[in-house]
Amino acid sequence: MTGNTDFDLFKISEDHEALREAVRAVADDKIAPHAAEVDEKSEFPQAALDALVAADFHAPHIAEEYDGVGADALATCIVIEEVARACASSSLIPAVNKLGSMPVILGASEELKKKYLPLVASGEAMISYGLSEREAGSDTASMRCRAKKDGDSYVLSGQKSWITNAGVSQLYTVLAVTDPEGERGRNISAFVVEKSDEGFDFGEPERKLGIKGSPTRELHFDQCRIPADRIIGQEGEGLKIALRTLDHTRVTIGAQAVGIAQGALDYALGYVKERKQFGKAIAEFQGLQFMLADMAMKLEAARQMVYVAAAKSERGDQDLSFFGAAAKCYASDVAMEVTTDAVQLLGGAGYVKDHPVERMMRDAKITQIYEGTNQIQRMVMARQLLKG
Ligand SMILES: Cc1cc2nc3c(=O)[nH]c(=O)nc-3n(C[C@H](O)[C@H](O)[C@H](O)COP(=O)(O)OP(=O)(O)OC[C@H]3O[C@@H](n4cnc5c(N)ncnc54)[C@H](O)[C@@H]3O)c2cc1C
Repeated sequence: MTGNTDFDLFKISEDHEALREAVRAVADDKIAPHAAEVDEKSEFPQAALDALVAADFHAPHIAEEYDGVGADALATCIVIEEVARACASSSLIPAVNKLGSMPVILGASEELKKKYLPLVASGEAMISYGLSEREAGSDTASMRCRAKKDGDSYVLSGQKSWITNAGVSQLYTVLAVTDPEGERGRNISAFVVEKSDEGFDFGEPERKLGIKGSPTRELHFDQCRIPADRIIGQEGEGLKIALRTLDHTRVTIGAQAVGIAQGALDYALGYVKERKQFGKAIAEFQGLQFMLADMAMKLEAARQMVYVAAAKSERGDQDLSFFGAAAKCYASDVAMEVTTDAVQLLGGAGYVKDHPVERMMRDAKITQIYEGTNQIQRMVMARQLLKG
């Protein structure tokens, strides 16, 4: 042996493992018991929010200087993963708090950071992220939502679509066109909008396939006037900040996917040992053992990829775009496959709501779609590959 400490890099630290245990305890005790009900009733998981705030797991990424607990990117992923293992809808509380606040962290003035980040850190406010529009999903630069400068204000008009936790969040990062004649992509700016701002309202909650406990709604702006100092960074920098945000937060969607898949695998492992057919536990059939082995193998590969990407996010490595996209894309494809196989392992029982695996399968699907579809992730990866 050379005494090379590189080997330690392939081992999760004791602190991170202790954090995992602490989050799992909260998730098992306070979040899992409500997961089926929030799905069934399409109801926001208030009990999960209360438990996460009480344990300081609701926005763990916020730095200590803004009154947060200052969890690193890997620790934040572990929190999201462990909450998602119990309830994917609830895992969107820490995930979207990171997504919504990351533009502020990356691009805002010190005044804006001091004004808003402590509110999220304390749990007084959640913060959502408003980039997509009905006609501008993958093609974000074609957005139409407009922010017009008027003296000391900007006046917002237009809409944003499919915004996670809309209505329950008090704060919103919103992307809008500030220079309609300007160069595509460089004519967009980012702003913080407060729920109470006049002229700001929400559409009806979307009726969804999965993550039903997490409200998804449109944001409507009708001559919504906000102070000009709510701009994040400079005019024209908005889309750049929004896309840099996604480099970091796609890693957290990978973590969410890993958590959902782990929840399904754990449940299926328990079931196959109990269920008997042909006079023995179905776990004894090699055909099922091979399925379980493949599920666990792919899940572990996805987890390692997410953790490496999280380390790159923490360090701000040059190749984060590739790794963030790869981790999200791979982990979400694995989550879809593993949850579908978990339903298969339970047979008819897997298809009905008496068991959680059908919910996990429905929840997994969104991880292949939001924060950029997996086709867009492949474009991001290819772009970085070809750039060299
Ligand atoms: C439940 C939910 C929550 C969401 N939360 C948020 C949120 O909080 N904030 C937010 O801003 N957005 C959010 N979104 C929006 C989400 O990010 C978009 O739906 C997603 O980026 C895809 O955009 P689109 O739906 O317009 O699909 P489209 O862009 O219309 O894509 C349709 C299909 O075409 C493919 N496609 C598009 N362009 C290309 C291309 N160039 N090459 C190959 N294939 C392509 C896509 O991969 C997809 O398969 C959410 C969406 C959902 C459903």
